[in-house]
Amino acid sequence: MTALADNRQAETPVDGDSVTVDGISMRVRVSARRKRFALTVEPDATLTLHVPEGRPKTEAEDFARAHREWVVAKLGQRERTRPLNPAKRLTEGEVFRYLGRTYRLAVSDSAPADGRIRLVAGRLVIARRQAEDEAEGRAALVDWYCRAGRAWAVDRVQPWAARMAVGEPELDVRDLGHKWGAYRPGEGMGEPGRMSLGWPLFQLPMHLVDYVIAHELAHVKVSGHGADFWRLVRLALPEYEERRAELDELGRRMWMGEIR
Ligand SMILES: [Zn+2]
Repeated sequence: MTALADNRQAETPVDGDSVTVDGISMRVRVSARRKRFALTVEPDATLTLHVPEGRPKTEAEDFARAHREWVVAKLGQRERTRPLNPAKRLTEGEVFRYLGRTYRLAVSDSAPADGRIRLVAGRLVIARRQAEDEAEGRAALVDWYCRAGRAWAVDRVQPWAARMAVGEPELDVRDLGHKWGAYRPGEGMGEPGRMSLGWPLFQLPMHLVDYVIAHELAHVKVSGHGADFWRLVRLALPEYEERRAELDELGRRMWMGEIR
C-alpha cells in the first residue's frame, strides 16, 4: 500500500463537513458518543450523516451508499408531504381564502374603532394602523377567522351530530397550531364535551371543513383512531378517505398566520 492510499484510508470526516455520495449531498455530524453510522432526514428535507468519532471517511461513504435506496424513498416522501404554507403581506389586494373562496384585503383609513376586520362587499377591510403592525394585523385576521368560522360552523355541527347520533358538543374556533381540530370529552357520563376547530381550517372549501367536523364528532363516541372510529366516520361520510387526502394536500398550502 502506498503512503497516499494510507492517508486516504485514515482520513476522518470533520463535523459540519458536507459530503456527496452518488449525487446526494449530506451534512456530516461527528459524535464521540455515537457507536454506529446513521442517516437522518431533517424537516427541511436535508440529510445528515452521523459518524462515530475516529471512523474513516471511506467507511462513512460506504454506509451512505449502502442506504441510497432508503434515502431516495425518504426524500420523495418528504417532498410529497412538505408544508408549503405561504406567508402573507398585509397590503392592499393581498388574497385571503375563506371557505374555499378568495377575498382581497382592503386597507382602510376609516375602519371601525373596535379594531375588528369586516367583510364588506367581498373585501376584508383592515384598519391601516393594524396593517402597518405585523402582530396587530395578524391578530385581527386570526380573530376574524375565529369569529366567522365559528358563526358558520355552529349551524353545521348540529345536523352532523344528528346524522351520527352523537351528542352535540360545545364549539370553539381558535389557534390549534398545525391541528385542524380537537375534541375533549365532557366531565360526566353522556356529556358531549367540547370540539375545537383551528382557525386556518376555514380557508378550505366547505366539504373539507365538514370532514373535520364529522371526524371530531366521531370522537364523541370513539376515542383514538382505531377501526371502530373509522367505521363511524365512514357511515357518516362514505367518501371520507378522499376528503382526508384532499385535506392533507390542500392543507399544506394554507396560510398558517405567517406575515412577511
Ligand atoms: Zn381524530
